[in-house]
Amino acid sequence: FSIPWMEVDSVWICVVHYLACLCPPWASVVYHVFMNHVGGEHVYDTLLSLDMFGVCLVNTLGALPIIHITLLCYPAMRQTALLAYILLSAYGIYLATTARTNILRLQAFLWQAGFRFSLFLFRVFGSGAGSPNSLRLFVIMDSLAGAGASSPGLFDNWGNSHQIMHVMVICSIIYLHWGTLEDLAWIKTYQCPAE
Ligand SMILES: [Zn+2]
Repeated sequence: FSIPWMEVDSVWICVVHYLACLCPPWASVVYHVFMNHVGGEHVYDTLLSLDMFGVCLVNTLGALPIIHITLLCYPAMRQTALLAYILLSAYGIYLATTARTNILRLQAFLWQAGFRFSLFLFRVFGSGAGSPNSLRLFVIMDSLAGAGASSPGLFDNWGNSHQIMHVMVICSIIYLHWGTLEDLAWIKTYQCPAE
């Protein structure tokens, strides 16, 4: 309801952001509702992949508006970066959903985080565009996601690592949403500097 659907030129940004916010909760709820299924290991692994798939989608779809807005004034670089991120993410999703260990699963997300981090650096030190208020929110978003991703197996005597991961992911999505709203409000009045 807080997405400014009618006020932005590129509606795809709103659609992608909307899906990014809703995919992880949806996929994770399906997995956790049916994780007591008696179908055996095959059914369980498929459902667990769905759980990971939701987390992969927020990593992939959630970053596309950030890439678009950061490189707003460089159309050629923007298209290339979007395409590269989508292709590498598709490969990362394949790795994450087929990984047999938590470490391998984590590695699939690392380069995505690295890609976003270089965009943040471009906003701070280069000529990357974007609302001055959104960067702080995106950095908190990735810090929460990083904290959630690094918890597997560490908190299973006191607490539950997997639950902590999901809580961190939800908090991180809220920051993604706040940051993207800042950028969408900002983009309405921004003009790229003339060459
Ligand atoms: Zn889960």
